[in-house]
Amino acid sequence: MLDDIAMLVGGERIAPTPGRVIDVTNPFDGRLLAQVADATTAQVSDAVGAAERAAPSWRALPGVERGRLLSRLADLIEARAEPLARLETSDNGKLLSETRVQAAFAARNYRFFAGYADKIYGHTIPLDSPSLFDYTTREPVGVAALITAWNSPMQLLANKLAPALAAGCTVVVKPSEVAPLTTLAMAGLVREAGFPPGVVNIVTGGAEAGAALTTDPRLGRISFTGSVRTGQAIAAAAARTLVPVTLELGGKSPNIVFDDADLDRAVVGALAGIFAAGGQTCIAGSRLLVQRSCYDRVVGELVRRAEDIVLGDPAAEGTQLGPLAGQAHLDRVLAMVDAGRASGATLRTGGTRPDEPALAQGCFLRPTVFSDVDPAAELAQEEIFGPVLSVLPFDTEDEAIALANGTEYGLASGIWTRDLARAHRVARELVAGTVWVNTYRTSAAQAPFGGVRRSGYGRERGLEAVDEYLRTKNVMIELSGDIRDPFVMQA
Ligand code: NAD
Repeated sequence: MLDDIAMLVGGERIAPTPGRVIDVTNPFDGRLLAQVADATTAQVSDAVGAAERAAPSWRALPGVERGRLLSRLADLIEARAEPLARLETSDNGKLLSETRVQAAFAARNYRFFAGYADKIYGHTIPLDSPSLFDYTTREPVGVAALITAWNSPMQLLANKLAPALAAGCTVVVKPSEVAPLTTLAMAGLVREAGFPPGVVNIVTGGAEAGAALTTDPRLGRISFTGSVRTGQAIAAAAARTLVPVTLELGGKSPNIVFDDADLDRAVVGALAGIFAAGGQTCIAGSRLLVQRSCYDRVVGELVRRAEDIVLGDPAAEGTQLGPLAGQAHLDRVLAMVDAGRASGATLRTGGTRPDEPALAQGCFLRPTVFSDVDPAAELAQEEIFGPVLSVLPFDTEDEAIALANGTEYGLASGIWTRDLARAHRVARELVAGTVWVNTYRTSAAQAPFGGVRRSGYGRERGLEAVDEYLRTKNVMIELSGDIRDPFVMQA
């Protein structure tokens, strides 16, 4: 797949402009994987132009045909799932076991929206006057800019691309410069599936290309997944063009363990929440809130299990924790660990790089658990995006809810309890786009996902996702043949 990774604009593969290339490396061993284009502003503009030209015929294509192409894309992803997963693992360091699941999830997402493409319709609306006939249509917004982060490129792209194409939008995709390879590989699959030229355009680059794309006034929607800071910059830029934005941003998600829970399962859920993807997920359960009556038992078991986690090559079958995505990211995470130590929290395990020589080239951090974390400290408030868990005790249900809601984020949350009434009560009070009960990090193409507060706005997956790429038109028809003349006085 690495021999076919050029940008895609108007159906053509576009090679990098001389001098404008980005080195893409494997975070496990630092090996150079590929050089991709750092798109110029003109190339980004060309991509938007190509998408704009393709828009009228794409939106006119019957939904069933758009669905057929999306199904074909799902088939192709399933057929190439293993090489795609391996490419993703080499690019961003995620475990092969995780990227395999993400490839399957991506295919499932394209298939789900394939089935929705011919079911997009409006309402007929009864009005007060019987002679008026009113109906709505749902129209695609036009060209959508889809910008993704490095941590789960295949899955994040599927969250956006599948509903956008189902809705009848054409798109310009820009993956993260840190891990662009599976998105570029998708260019080949899009062509093989038979999408018309210009419907899907893919450019690569960093902040410059992203800014060129998101300030283009020809867009009908921007859908962004990434950090709060970049999300704010995009929303500010879009305020000038008045292009609507979907923002999928960071989180500091609480995972709440009540003492009536099945504690063994809760510990597994806590471990999965923070260490399964090295904490490099927006939904990481990075704050574990544990009822004081079972606090020592849960923390003790967590630390024991965290110390058993096997670090290694993310492409090797037995590995349980891979490297962080790069040196700059590791440095940032280590600085936050140091600040955590200084804040008075108790470091129970981890906090340092492993000393095995075999891991020396990779950006590894041992699974890290802090207990007795001050709810106001950075450790409990800010997204770390690494394998660092902050554990906080609580006594009552009300206190748990207050702690859970006590950050500026609101992406995901977890509740561990056997008490059904408590599960519903707490779920109702949590300020978050997703609440898991007795599970964590479980996702489905059908279930809407997104954040509130600093975690963003808009929804992906589920039927709501298509709404992000549609707008409603109202049509009102006078059936009687009469017209009220405003210049003739009524008797
Ligand atoms: P980032 O904000 O640095 O980059 C995200 C994307 O934005 C990249 O493609 C980047 O090139 C582009 N970009 C950078 N500056 C830009 C600008 N000025 N204008 C337009 N585009 C620009 O984020 P990241 O480090 O790649 O990703 C990590 C973050 O993503 C974390 O905060 C994580 O929580 C978040 N995330 C959120 C979700 C979600 O669904 N809510 C999912 C995955 C990751």
